Amino acid sequence: MRDCGRRCVYCAAALDFDFATLDHVHPLSHGGAHVPGNVVLACARCNRLKGNMLPTEFFARYPWAGLNFIAHARAVHRALKRCARRAVSLAYAA
Ligand SMILES: [Zn+2]
Repeated sequence: MRDCGRRCVYCAAALDFDFATLDHVHPLSHGGAHVPGNVVLACARCNRLKGNMLPTEFFARYPWAGLNFIAHARAVHRALKRCARRAVSLAYAA
């Protein structure tokens, strides 16, 4: 909780404790692990939006979420941030 500054890492909205959800950046259904470096705080809306998408798909489709993720998801694996940066720059180049 504290790691993310109580903001949704995808839309940067301030989160109420009650409305915050935990999101697995790399979804469990795609082989993601339940480890701190793969778990972020997200609002219910972004969590639904992301669903079971892989981070690369999600950030390619919603580059703004990637930008917020890079800025706010401080505790995630560096590999996930690298992948977000790549997806965002590709999305803006297209
Ligand atoms: Zn959100």
